Amino acid sequence: MCIFCKIINNEIPSYKIYEDEYTLAFLDLSQATKGHTLIVPKKHFANIFETPCEELHHIMNSVKAVTEKLKKSLGVENVNILNNSGTLAGQTVHHLHFHVIPRYENDNCELCPSATNPSFDELKNLCDLINN
Ligand code: AMP
Ligand code: ZN
Repeated sequence: MCIFCKIINNEIPSYKIYEDEYTLAFLDLSQATKGHTLIVPKKHFANIFETPCEELHHIMNSVKAVTEKLKKSLGVENVNILNNSGTLAGQTVHHLHFHVIPRYENDNCELCPSATNPSFDELKNLCDLINN
C-alpha cells in the first residue's frame, strides 16, 4: 500500500487540514513555505492520467477549501497550485496529489526556474502539432 493510502487509512500519522467524503488534505512534511499542504483523493490513482474527471472535480473543490482555510488562518493571499504527474515531472509519491504552496513576500521559493522563449513561428508549429 502506498504511503498516502496509509495516511488515508490512519496507519501513519499526518497533520490534517481538511477532509471530506472524497479527499484528504494534510501538511507536507517538507514545508516549501509555511502552510504547504497536499490534497489527495481517498481512492488511489497514480497520477492525473489515471484519474477520472469526476474525481478531479472533488479534488479541486478541496483545493479551493484549503486555500480559503489558509487565507483565514494564516492570511495567505498568494498560492501556487501544483501537481507533478510522472517521475520526469518530479513525482516521488505515486498517489495523485495537488500541492498548495502559499507565497509570501521575499520567500525565495523557486518552483520552475528554467524557461525558454520560443519564436512565434515555433509556438505556431507547436500549437498545430498539439491540435492536429
Ligand atoms: P511529489 O514530488 O509531487 O511527488 O511530492 C511528494 C511530497 O510528499 C513531497 O513534497 C514530500 O515532502 C511529501 N511527503 C512524503 N511523505 C509524506 C508524509 N508521510 N506526510 C506528508 N508529506 C509527505
Ligand atoms: Zn495510494
